[in-house]
Amino acid sequence: MKKHNFSAGPCILPQEVLAKSAEAILNFDGLNLSLIEISHRSKEFIAVMDKAVSLVKELLNLPEGYSVLFLQGGASLEFLMTPYNIMKVGGKAGYLDTGAWSSKAIKEAKLLGDVEVFASSKDKTYNYIPKNYTVPKDVDYIHVTSNNTIYGTQIKDFPKTDAPLVADMSSDIFSRQLDFSKFDIIYAGAQKNMGPAGATLVVVKDEILGKTGRQIPAMLDYQSHIKNDSMFNTPAVFSVYVSMLTLQWLKDLGGIPAIEKINEEKAALLYAEIDRNPHFKGFAEKEDRSLMNVTFNLTNEADQEAFDKIWNAAGISGIKGHRSVGGYRASIYNAMPIESVQVLIDAMQQLEKQN
Ligand SMILES: *Cc1c(COP(=O)(O)O)cnc(C)c1O
Repeated sequence: MKKHNFSAGPCILPQEVLAKSAEAILNFDGLNLSLIEISHRSKEFIAVMDKAVSLVKELLNLPEGYSVLFLQGGASLEFLMTPYNIMKVGGKAGYLDTGAWSSKAIKEAKLLGDVEVFASSKDKTYNYIPKNYTVPKDVDYIHVTSNNTIYGTQIKDFPKTDAPLVADMSSDIFSRQLDFSKFDIIYAGAQKNMGPAGATLVVVKDEILGKTGRQIPAMLDYQSHIKNDSMFNTPAVFSVYVSMLTLQWLKDLGGIPAIEKINEEKAALLYAEIDRNPHFKGFAEKEDRSLMNVTFNLTNEADQEAFDKIWNAAGISGIKGHRSVGGYRASIYNAMPIESVQVLIDAMQQLEKQN
């Protein structure tokens, strides 16, 4: 039996997408060739890339003037590529520090210019989203992490700024309705809500590029990838294909408004149990709780062995918390069925009954 997969990433994908991907590995599009052994410049693969790009634009409801790229190097390379492309020589950027991923982004940006960390929640192991900060004005851009995968917090109100707004949306892209046209760069590793590892989605507003006064190595230059429709070099063909199928699955479901409703329902069920069950307590501040990564701890550490036994027996996988937080983390991304969330809740209630 398939396990209930709560892994934080790589993570659960729709079962029908996995089945179609398996088929394409053996015989893609009736070609009697594998998807991963044909040219990325074949008309069949170009159609896949075009479809993936148009689905991103449609699902995010992007206006004209944005480019959609499928690159490699993960979100981690975007920590560097973003400043390379929009931090002016001798420039400065403002960063909101909401976790380990933000901190890594800050570290890379410092290689290229001044970084002002205008607010941080490090004082409480990042269990909340800072508020009431002053957004710096004299900056080339503002950078945020929309969802903090490790701690289970999510930004509800984004900083207001006239500078370009950059967001690492690796772990919540396509999960909730936002005005995506408020962002100038959005990036996300595929492996959390879109597809297998290997591709990185980058959405960039064209007009902010080409203004740094810096020479950019071709592979790090968004403009070389834009000019070549994400085929400056060989793209991650399998990851792009599976991402395209997942985006099509999402569109067929009713797009982001439909999935947001389901995601809210799943998260509400699970948080309600965490708050009700005396054996558990939530890690993140309630008002900042993530719809994607639900972090919680046992109230009594001595229950760990018993609880681990229960959820293992229930066929649950991947709920161990990140080593920096401990406890548990249930990642309930788009493809996670509500039935699996119920299985986890049942396991939590079983611990209560046993004690
Ligand atoms: C996983 C994750 C990353 C790192 O992604 P890679 O693709 O492994 O580089 C960056 N930011 C966030 C928010 C993440 O969840």
